[in-house]
Amino acid sequence: MKKITIAIDGHSSCGKSTMAKDLAREVGYVYVDTGAMYRSVTLFALRNGLFTGDGINEEELRHRMPEINISFKFNPETGRPDTYLNGELVENDIRTMEVSSRVSPIATLGFVREAMVAQQQQMGKDKGVVMDGRDIGTTVFPHAELKIYVTASAEVRAQRRYDELKAKGMDADYDEILKNVQERDYIDSHREVSPLRKADDAIELDNSHMTIAEQKQWLLDRFNETVNKD
Ligand code: C5P
Repeated sequence: MKKITIAIDGHSSCGKSTMAKDLAREVGYVYVDTGAMYRSVTLFALRNGLFTGDGINEEELRHRMPEINISFKFNPETGRPDTYLNGELVENDIRTMEVSSRVSPIATLGFVREAMVAQQQQMGKDKGVVMDGRDIGTTVFPHAELKIYVTASAEVRAQRRYDELKAKGMDADYDEILKNVQERDYIDSHREVSPLRKADDAIELDNSHMTIAEQKQWLLDRFNETVNKD
């Protein structure tokens, strides 16, 4: 069967990564969480004191980009890849509110995006990949055979993020999460470089009222349609 590239874009916490991971596992493709990459750069900046009040020490971060090595390793226990920053497992550290509240400004920086996009294109060069993010169908893989644009209301998305953090035993405050989701929506859609937008040839899915099982089946159906089309 021919291998394709699958690009899944959409707002924060809309269930993209759950759908993407499930599909990758089901069809034997590689899953790449590009949000985890921007989060890892943010964690590096936080740990190295590169945030100055509300701003970022851009010159220093630009200079230190070559020190940032992000990789993924499949975790057989969860059946999903874990994120590593310079060899250290950071899967939980990159999901904290501190990182969530700093990541969108980091993701507006052109030199950060350039470095991440180059790595993502390298990871997907042999196809057989499911990649989720904000600019996969528009910038990273504009020729992807299957593009999905996922949406859901901000309130539904905040509740999902809240449930996810709680399930991991992490601290969570619904109002703070909702505010963060809305702020990231705004920054992600209004930034100059690769703003979040639906690619013209993407299929839109509003999953506000769908169960995880329904989304999974919907995506598998789109996948089968695409690979069986000549
Ligand atoms: O997907 P997730 O919510 O983990 O992404 C974290 C942040 O990384 C997003 O809010 C966005 O600012 C940024 N991002 C991006 N481009 C991507 C993936 C994520 O700008 N392809």
